[in-house]
Formats: sequence, C-alpha cells, structure tokens
Amino acid sequence: MILDSELIIVATRNPGKVKEFEHAFAQLGKQVKSMFDYPELPEVVEDGVTFAENALKKAKTVGDALGLPVLADDSGLCVDELEGRPGVYSARFAGEHATDQQNNEKLLHMLEDKKLGEDTAQPLLSTARFVCSLVLYDPATGTHIEASGAVDGWITDEPAGCGGFGYDPLFYLPDYEKTMAELSMEEKQAISHRGVALRSLINMLQQQPEM
Ligand code: IMP
Repeated sequence: MILDSELIIVATRNPGKVKEFEHAFAQLGKQVKSMFDYPELPEVVEDGVTFAENALKKAKTVGDALGLPVLADDSGLCVDELEGRPGVYSARFAGEHATDQQNNEKLLHMLEDKKLGEDTAQPLLSTARFVCSLVLYDPATGTHIEASGAVDGWITDEPAGCGGFGYDPLFYLPDYEKTMAELSMEEKQAISHRGVALRSLINMLQQQPEM
C-alpha cells in the first residue's frame, strides 16, 4: 500500500507546494521528494483544460518515467469577476516564466480596469476560489485515484502577509480577517484547497488497501 511507504514523490517544481507537502507528510512520518530531486526529468506540458486533467498527466508522465507511485497537484485561482481566470493558467498568467509578483500585478490591473467607474473606496475586488486537484498514480498497476479541494475568499487590492506563495497575499479570508499569506502553515493547511484535497485523498487510500 502506498501509504505504507516512507517516501512520497510529488510531481512538482513549485517550491511553495513542496514546502506544504513536506509539512503535511512529515506529520505522517513520511519524507517527500519532488522534481528538484530528479532534475533529469523533462517539464510536463500542462495542456489540459481542467485541473484534474493536468494533475493526471503530471502523475502519469512522472510515475511512468520513474517506475514509482507519484502524487501530482494541479491547482490555481479562479476569480469570479474574470469569469474564472486565471484558472489552469494561474502559474503563467503574466507569461511563460512569470514570477508570483508579476502574476499578482497582472491580476490586480485586470480587476482595477474592471472596477473603473465603480465605488473605488471598496477594497475587495472580487470573490474568488482556490482549487486543487490531486492525483496519485501507481505505474505498477496503471491505476490512479484523485481528490479535489477548494476554498472561497476575496481578492483584495491591499496585499498582506509573507507566508505561502503565489496569490496568497491577495487572497482575503473574511472569516479570519486575514489573507492566506498571513496564516501559519498549520492554519493554511487546515482550510486550504490543497489541505482539503490531501485529507480527502488520504481518507480514500485508507479505505482502499489495494492502492
Ligand atoms: P500549477 O503548478 O500549474 O498547478 O500552478 C499552480 C499555480 O496556481 C501557482 O503557481 C500559483 O500561482 C497558483 N496557486 C496554486 N495553489 C496556490 C496556493 O496555495 N496559494 C497561492 N497560489 C496558488
């Protein structure tokens, strides 16, 4: 069973995701390896139209290349005022190798353009949702399981906090009166799209001893 293994391989080169998976799996006594440990593996082209499609492609490509079970995460931000964008393009919203800061600036510019003529005293620009699809693929059997998670919030034009990564400083959680980047790693994991998806995946694995 995959959960019995001490090593979990995660198909990502995103350092923010790596930290979160390391933290989550350390609590289960497991070590995480990422694509930084396998630099010879090529980038996976993320050409799916859904998070689930991209996660499955990443898990299969890397799992088949290594001959080992692999966990893949595809995630992003869906902003209601922008009809769900950046969505699956979240990582490259401002261009192929865009930094988090460039992506955040582009998002705020697009929302501010939309806001022109509206009440400019209102600091919250749109409702939004972080979404995460996780796929665990086992090349020995050719089977996979998948889970997803989401968290709702607002996009604020007053970025705050230096935790997390990506769009976290812009993602305001009204119940906490903080952005995602102002939460501790434990707090983020308890409510985030990735935390929800991971707990759901682990639940499924515990009920499917053959995986
Ligand atoms: P992926 O690596 O193609 O799944 O792209 C994920 C992108 O979505 C990241 O580069 C971030 O821009 C955004 N994203 C996903 N999860 C989070 C999160 O937990 N916080 C902030 N941004 C995130």
